[in-house]
Amino acid sequence: MTEPMPSKFKPYTRQTIHLARQWQWMSPDLQEAVQVVSHVLPFRVNAYVLEELIDWDKVPDDPIYRLTFPHRDMLPAAEYEQLRDLVLYKKDDAAVARLVHGIRMRMNPHPAGQMTHNVPRVNDAPLKGLQHKYKETVLFFPSSGQTCHAYCTFCFRWPQFVGMDDMKFDARECSELVAYLKTHPDVTDVLITGGDPMIMNTRSLAEFLEPLLAPELAHIQNIRIGTKSVAYWPQRFVSDKDSDDLLRLFEKVVSSGKNLAIMGHYNHAVELRAPVAQQAVKRIVGTGATLRMQGPLIRHINEDPKSWAELWTTGVRLGAIPYYMFVERDTGPRDYFSLPLARAHQIFQEAYSMVSGLSRTVRGPSMSAFPGKVVIDGVVTINDEKLFALQFLQARNPEWVRRPFFAKYDPDATWLDHLKPAFGRDKFFFEQEGGGAPRAAGGRVIPLVPAGQQRSDTGCSPVLHGGTQPDAA
Ligand code: SF4
Repeated sequence: MTEPMPSKFKPYTRQTIHLARQWQWMSPDLQEAVQVVSHVLPFRVNAYVLEELIDWDKVPDDPIYRLTFPHRDMLPAAEYEQLRDLVLYKKDDAAVARLVHGIRMRMNPHPAGQMTHNVPRVNDAPLKGLQHKYKETVLFFPSSGQTCHAYCTFCFRWPQFVGMDDMKFDARECSELVAYLKTHPDVTDVLITGGDPMIMNTRSLAEFLEPLLAPELAHIQNIRIGTKSVAYWPQRFVSDKDSDDLLRLFEKVVSSGKNLAIMGHYNHAVELRAPVAQQAVKRIVGTGATLRMQGPLIRHINEDPKSWAELWTTGVRLGAIPYYMFVERDTGPRDYFSLPLARAHQIFQEAYSMVSGLSRTVRGPSMSAFPGKVVIDGVVTINDEKLFALQFLQARNPEWVRRPFFAKYDPDATWLDHLKPAFGRDKFFFEQEGGGAPRAAGGRVIPLVPAGQQRSDTGCSPVLHGGTQPDAA
């Protein structure tokens, strides 16, 4: 039976998912996996995702089901069984908590130096809700925007949603951000991110946006908002009771002379097929704001180049701008989701070759790694050596940007720190230029700037939702 399009936001969690009619359509195995794995990874879905985005005839292989529902293979088999026994049979809460904590810490909860290297400081005190990695861009995490309309199983910000409070970035109000920006005239871009800032009502969002329009912050030219609401709850821009007020707020920012860029996180073409999702795009760009599309390439979810091509082409037709295809980050259940870099490059190339020049604003596949955003430009052979050609699109040191470099081709590598320099060198140029930081045993890139010693103007992680993989996020 078809249900009407949900018009009121209704979330479901582990505690309430059994109330959704779709729960009965899931096999006992799938239900068990949700009950077990959601102790480790966050789980939240909503009625729109359940009714409109998931094709239940294709579950469990449906991409949006994989995107939002925990699966048993997201944990190693032994860990899964141990946790299942504790959760379902022994019902030992203290033992569950200990095991869950151990699993989460193994999952590299904050990759790319987010907790140690990107947090700006004033008088040596960290500003909790800010990150500053690239000279011109500051990320801001309003506390009321640190949740999402649904949670992605691959999310690189997952610790925020599972109560790891010491792993949380949030700011209760805007005054520290404004004070910081006043003393940093080099900053031109502010990315408001989360979680999802669009979870806030318009009045709360205005409290964060309007102070950025002050004359003393004339150097702030671009305000970006990273959001997944365009896919998970497009009603936010169309039919929520304050959606018209939201559009008026966007117009106010645009009429102040600044660029408002909505960094829309999309994972699959299906997210832009529903009429309400298309209407959301048109209403956003109708305010004079821009909408950029970005998202990570994830095994089990969006390996099909045709899906990317459809997504970018539809977006361009509606007025959006394809921006980034990211490589899935080295955190969370990444063994389940990651693809070799060689395969990622192939998928990007195939998708890119299917679209017109207007969609070729997209860049990728790009890794939001510790030293910066590194894009795989291609696979080349030089002097009989097969290599990856790479470059920084964004970097902790601005002089590294767009400087080509090469790594030995490795068909299994899934992240920058798996790669080895080409031409017999033992370090990449950015390792040599970052204070002579050596490579650790096992080939991991050592942090370039020790924690607590970074300059206040060199901090943030690129986030999924806005200039994210996340700038997005
Ligand atoms: S990837 Fe973005 S939308 Fe998805 S759970 Fe993480 S922060 Fe939320």
